[in-house]
Amino acid sequence: MITFSVSLLEKQDIPLQGSEPAALLELEDDLIFNAGAPITYDLVVRKVSDGALVTGHAETILNGACGRCLQPSEVTLSTGELQLFVETDSEEIVDITEDIRAELLINLPANLLCSDDCAGLCPVCGANKNTTNCDCVTEDDDFEAPNSDEPSPWDALDKLKLDK
Ligand SMILES: [Zn+2]
Ligand SMILES: [Zn+2]
Repeated sequence: MITFSVSLLEKQDIPLQGSEPAALLELEDDLIFNAGAPITYDLVVRKVSDGALVTGHAETILNGACGRCLQPSEVTLSTGELQLFVETDSEEIVDITEDIRAELLINLPANLLCSDDCAGLCPVCGANKNTTNCDCVTEDDDFEAPNSDEPSPWDALDKLKLDK
């Protein structure tokens, strides 16, 4: 848990540094990302009117399969520079773990890619096009192929014309 003492905050700014288990993000059921490293944080809590201001940042590493080529990949998930207001109410110990978790999750990218220009897999042979140049025909060529040997309706029409 990431916590600070309100009575201590009355006297001084509070630096908070440390790490939390990656499981905190609860990504077990996520189809794209796995938690790859503990969440590290480097924060400072300052007293402001009616509460506390938390600055600094937290980050972790997520891993999973690239959405295009399926190779193992990882991405750093960071809160960026935080400016987080926290109400202190009447409690002595304020727990900001959930706030930090939420700040990380709103920065979760939509996709995991090994690189922005990943070429993906060949749809025909499955080769990784980042590392292999295959000679497969394109999807458009394939689309015509299955019907090419069947007679077209125009063939029958032509035949009728010839029979006259
Ligand atoms: Zn990739
Ligand atoms: Zn191919």
